[in-house]
This record gives sequence, C-alpha cells and structure tokens, in this order.
Amino acid sequence: MKNFAYGRVSSIEEAVNRATGDRNAVYIAGGTNLVDRLKAFLDEPTQLLDISRLEIEMKRIEPTLEGGFRIGALVTNTDLANHAEVRDQYPMLSRAILSGASQQIRNMATVGGNLMQRTRCPYYYDPAFACNKRQPDTGCPAINGVNRTHAILGASERCVAVNPSDMSVALAALEASVEVQGEQGRREIPLVDFHRLPGDTPDRDTNLEPGELIIAVRLPPIAFAPSGVYLKLRDRASYAFALVAVAAAVELSGDQIRNARIALGGVAPKPWRASAAETFLQGRAANQSTFEQAADIALQDAQPLSHNGFKVELSRRAIRRALAVSARGGGLV
Ligand code: SF4
Repeated sequence: MKNFAYGRVSSIEEAVNRATGDRNAVYIAGGTNLVDRLKAFLDEPTQLLDISRLEIEMKRIEPTLEGGFRIGALVTNTDLANHAEVRDQYPMLSRAILSGASQQIRNMATVGGNLMQRTRCPYYYDPAFACNKRQPDTGCPAINGVNRTHAILGASERCVAVNPSDMSVALAALEASVEVQGEQGRREIPLVDFHRLPGDTPDRDTNLEPGELIIAVRLPPIAFAPSGVYLKLRDRASYAFALVAVAAAVELSGDQIRNARIALGGVAPKPWRASAAETFLQGRAANQSTFEQAADIALQDAQPLSHNGFKVELSRRAIRRALAVSARGGGLV
C-alpha cells in the first residue's frame, strides 16, 4: 500500500487550492464508495482532503427563488430522501435514494459522493483482471466475459460498465444541475452532462476539471414532479444495484400528455435521459399503446451484450409501467 496524507480542510477555497495543486489528491466526505476503492488499491491518492466539516452552505437544503431547491453536496442521502418537501414535490428523487444501498450507508453517503461513485463492474474491482477504466489501454474483459449487469446503451469498445447511482437517474429526469467550484470560480453543469460516456477514455467518469469540488445540486421547480415515480428492478428486493431503473413523470391535460420525463438507470454508463421518447409522448393520448411506442423509441438504439439481452425487454416493460403509474397520479410502482 502507498502511504497517503490525511487532512481536514477548513474552507471550500482551501480544498480547491490544495486539490488543484496536487492532481493525486482526493476529496473524502462519507467515504462509502471511496474507502472500498482504497482497500482494493483502485485509488492510490497522495492525500485525502476531508471536506466533511466544510461550510454550512454545503449541508443545507434550501428553497430557491425560482421555486425549486438547492441541496448542499454534504447533505446525507438519508436527510435528502426524508426531507418533507422533497418527498412531496419530488417523490421520484426520495424513492430513488431510498431504493439504494442500506440505511447505514445512506446515513453516511452524501449527495456529492453519490454523484461521484464509480461503477460496480466486478472486473473493475478485481486486480486479477485487466480493466480500461482502472488502467487505460489494458483491455475490457467484460465485453466477452460475464456481462449480465452491463450496459445496453451508450457503451464503447473500451468499456461497457454502468453507472450505479439511483439518485442521479431521478436528478436527470428532473433536469437538475450541479454547482461546482474550481480554480476559475463557480459554474453549473446540467446533470445530464455531468457524467461522461466511456468513448476512448473510460477512465474519466465525469466532466469535472482537476480540483473542482461539488458544492450543491439545484432542483428546478417542475409542476408535475409530484406525479413522478421511480421503478427499480433488481436481483433481490434490497441492497442491490439496479438491473433496470426508470424515473418517469407525466403531465396530463385531460387524457392527453402535455409533458413527460423519462430517465433510465442500470443500462448505461451514465443516467440515461430518453429525450426522443419524451418528445414522442407530447400531445398523445395517455394510453397503453402510446406508452408501448414510447418505450420502443427509448430502446431503439439498445445494443445488448452476450448475457444482458433480457435488459432490453425488461426496460421496455419498466418504462410502460412507470409511465402508466405516473399518468394515474404517481405513487408506488
Ligand atoms: Fe473495466 Fe469498464 Fe470493462 Fe468493467 S466494463 S472491465 S469497468 S473497462
């Protein structure tokens, strides 16, 4: 094991300055994924910068002037999921978070850390195997190996891993954005652009610049978000990652769909917004046939691997069901 330094930073500026000056420094807050990676020698930082006691602005959930919420990056998953107004106004977000991990992990895990968690591809965690994400240009054994849990959308010849976050799927459907601070100041990144597709550089998961720190997530007001649902399908009922997940919300005008949001999890290297299906739904009758066609459109570019063809049909069915439940006003799926 390589030695590393540990230090608690006392301001956002100090954190960013220290991380910008040392490309091998890593931020730590809840540590629920990072510590696993340290133990497996996947991350070998020179220093851990503990941000867990940073400014109070990173620990609050505050209403915004526009009518949405600004969620500090250090808010725990438990506190966000149980926030009364978030639960009422953005139920898909609350349910997505509660469907992930265990109560103990959610108590420690933070919003910023949830966005930064890395894939659970088993080859990535096992140094006995090559892995382009762990070490560029070494190969991807998953492509011709056991790939039942891997991607059917957005993968590349270098990596077919999926993003494991449930929270990010709901945030993609809700058109959230991520507020980050770097050497050059603050900027906002739309959630759908925060994570990257693997392409030729699967070792990079996000579009963060070196040293940039997540400060908050912004949730815009969405009038029909209370009808939103989160449907997660997995191998066991709890403490398992999604094989397929759907975050969906439908706004009706009479029997017609005025607006729809769909994002998929467990099927792509990033939270997968189904924009073409959303456009198709606008102005159509809210019925089973419409939902089936929307699901087909969402999956039209799917490229299953040798062991995960079942995810295509599972995704279709999950989309249809999530849309139908949301069109009835939402609730549990
Ligand atoms: Fe590594 Fe990605 Fe291949 Fe998994 S799918 S072994 S993370 S390169």
